[in-house]
Amino acid sequence: RSNMESGNNLRIFTEDIEHAVKRAFNLDQDLRRALSGKQFQLSYQPIVNIDHFEVCSLEALLRWQLPDGTMVPPQEFIPLAENNGLIMPIGHWVIREACRQIGAWQRSLGTVVPVAINLSPQQFQGPDPAALLLRALREEEIDPSLLEIEITETSLMQNMDDMMRQLRQLADAGVRLAIDDFGTGYSSLNYLRKLPVHAVKIDRSFIRDLTHDVNGQLIVQTIIDLANQLHLDTIAEGVETPEQVDMLRNFGCRRLQGFYLSEPAPASQIERLLKQGALGVI
Ligand code: C2E
Ligand code: MG
Ligand code: MG
Ligand code: MG
Repeated sequence: RSNMESGNNLRIFTEDIEHAVKRAFNLDQDLRRALSGKQFQLSYQPIVNIDHFEVCSLEALLRWQLPDGTMVPPQEFIPLAENNGLIMPIGHWVIREACRQIGAWQRSLGTVVPVAINLSPQQFQGPDPAALLLRALREEEIDPSLLEIEITETSLMQNMDDMMRQLRQLADAGVRLAIDDFGTGYSSLNYLRKLPVHAVKIDRSFIRDLTHDVNGQLIVQTIIDLANQLHLDTIAEGVETPEQVDMLRNFGCRRLQGFYLSEPAPASQIERLLKQGALGVI
């Protein structure tokens, strides 16, 4: 390789870094304006029981649309918000918005299924997150059993004692807890004994490889067996094919979530689905 070439490569490389840094900086600036600019929305993805595809709950997923129409994926801005502290006000908005929506559905439909929200570990470092959540529920006059929270295994490792206290407080009030992305963390399974967990969500990476990876099948079967023994609910994430559904059914999995059933959708679309009760797949 000539000097000339490596020189060019180096320049391209520095330009890449510059570009990435600029993008991150701009995104940070944009994110600071997103809340006041009302650029956030919640999408809702149905979680169904495996027998009749009845909607048993919904997962609220945060959507951010820039004024120019661009959608920024959560994988990009959530880590950023977790690092710059904005996850606090953003997370608070998610809690209040989910509660507001549950209240609205309750009034317009009479009944409503529970809604799950994702919580970042940083949110447990703020001033009494459990109280904040319970206040939001009270303000909308919602039964705590209509709110579920999803936390990842990895987040549990970060400040176990503090978080456990908060989670117990929420569970005592009737809020349900699911472990998200189950199987991808390094944490010990001990927390399943210590925490008031009601469900494990088997990570999408296991489901994706399910029909062509024998080891993956063994892992999923083992997770489901463990959960069933512990009387926990199992939710398979990222279900995209009928073959996956059949296999998960044989394994004794109870609930499904994924594009095969339904993609996340805005509240108005979900309302129609809730009136209908079950998904019209197959
Ligand atoms: P998650 O909590 O594991 O959410 C599931 C993700 O999988 C969602 O991505 C959903 O759209 C996607 N998904 C569902 N079914 C399928 C499928 O069949 N195929 C594929 N390829 N994907 C599927 P999304 O909405 O992009 O969110 C990504 C992650 O961002 C979430 O993963 C969660 O960790 C985080 N997140 C989203 N909303 C919030 C929020 O309000 N607060 C916090 N702290 N994190 C959030
Ligand atoms: Mg989740
Ligand atoms: Mg997940
Ligand atoms: Mg995830």
